[in-house]
Amino acid sequence: PHSVLENQVAVITGGGSGIGKSIVQRFLEAGASCLAADLNEDSLNALKDEFAAYGDKLDVMKVDVSNRAAVEDMVDHAVGTFGKMDIIVNNAGIMDNLLPIAEMDDDVWERLMKVNLNSVMYGTRKAVRYFLERGEGGVIINTASLSGLCAGRGGCAYTASKFAVVGLTKNVAFMYADTGIRCNAICPGNTQTNIGVGMRQPSERGMAKATTGYAGATRSGTPEEISAAALFLASDQAGFINGETLTIDGGWSAY
Ligand code: NAD
Repeated sequence: PHSVLENQVAVITGGGSGIGKSIVQRFLEAGASCLAADLNEDSLNALKDEFAAYGDKLDVMKVDVSNRAAVEDMVDHAVGTFGKMDIIVNNAGIMDNLLPIAEMDDDVWERLMKVNLNSVMYGTRKAVRYFLERGEGGVIINTASLSGLCAGRGGCAYTASKFAVVGLTKNVAFMYADTGIRCNAICPGNTQTNIGVGMRQPSERGMAKATTGYAGATRSGTPEEISAAALFLASDQAGFINGETLTIDGGWSAY
């Protein structure tokens, strides 16, 4: 099981922190070469230090995933550095202060759509074009959220962006199933990462409503509990899983 990704090349966005960082670690442990992309250069430098034992098998790149050209360069860079790309994990994302629609301005909506949704479209489109040209299939994993399946875990923009990620994931899976491309989404529940660190004053209404939803959660998850699912979906063990959303929430959504 420790070499399920031997000779595989993976690109992971948001790889400097939280769930993305844990995915990078698991993929390296499983034998893959990884390009970790993130907006935060400090976290990428720290990642390089922490995983120095993997040498050239880990490359890092500063990328703003809301920028189409930057995302396309990222894939080109991985192919240039490692000779190919087999797996892309479109994972980077941000939150929205739990804003209900009446409290949300256009800037928040546009930022959330750019960072959480356009990014996934850019990465997936570039990967699919590359995979089709290569003719050997490939794996796409998108980090959606429980907020991509239920209404009560985020603000309006965050929830809408993650539902859209789920729709994009299913459409891509449907359209390209006959080409050996698999496209799945992971839907974490509340997970211990840095995503809330930058959160300013959350909406009072949003927080009160979300707290009702939180009643069903027994605990938050760890990034390792989420990355285990990503490793499974990336591996050949999941070869017949396509267009699926894998919820990882300790039973929260069953409430
Ligand atoms: P995190 O903040 O710890 O990590 C996210 C990383 O993405 C950070 O390193 C950040 O620098 C990077 N990033 C943000 N904007 C970027 C941009 N424009 N370009 C490139 N990189 C950018 O948070 P996390 O919880 O690990 O989040 C990863 C994904 O998991 C997100 O898509 C998030 O929506 C999703 N998610 C998180 C939770 C949770 O409870 N933590 C639950 C469900 C889904």
